[in-house]
Amino acid sequence: MPSLVLATRNPHKAEEFQDLLRPWSVAPLPDNVDLPPETGTTFADNALAKARAAAAGTGKASFGDDSGIVADALDGAPGVRSARFAGEDATDEENLALFVERVPAGSAVAYVCAIAYVDPSTRTEHVVEGRCTGTMADAPRGAGGFGYDPVFLPDDVETARGRTMAELSPAEKAAISHRGAAARALLPLLGPRAG
Ligand code: IMP
Repeated sequence: MPSLVLATRNPHKAEEFQDLLRPWSVAPLPDNVDLPPETGTTFADNALAKARAAAAGTGKASFGDDSGIVADALDGAPGVRSARFAGEDATDEENLALFVERVPAGSAVAYVCAIAYVDPSTRTEHVVEGRCTGTMADAPRGAGGFGYDPVFLPDDVETARGRTMAELSPAEKAAISHRGAAARALLPLLGPRAG
């Protein structure tokens, strides 16, 4: 089965991408390959830096992603700083607590995901982006997903039916998520490939 190296140390993402990129299989990043710090100002820049580092370190076709949440009430913040919103080593819980404090219920939010693909054997690079729009919930709800999911009410009411992203099954989340949208944009660009 064809496989792609995923430039991440986040097991949640590895799991989500494994489902989203079928029939490709997602291989973990070897421990000896270092990922660059997320210093880019756009999701695309950061995704590309990760994919290039993984491709250079393994010699194999690799992809990297960068994602985050943007809030209208914060003029698009935290954006590329979503994982560090409450501080450099902040936990998901700390980031969520600060987000709840700063973002009014009912205001517009969106998840964004950029995926970059780098194949060193053909010197091919692709970058795609997916978005998922929603509104801020009154209070955190649900135990699924991760990060800001407990306060994210997807605009896709047909799927979400009033539930937060953290109350959806993994399949329901994949069907409407920013990561799902980006993965679906990437798949046709990968083409048929052996090994
Ligand atoms: P990254 O590892 O730099 O892409 O950081 C992404 C950060 O954005 C995560 O730490 C979460 O805080 C947030 N984030 C991205 N995607 C999601 C999602 O699907 N649900 C909840 N939070 C997300």
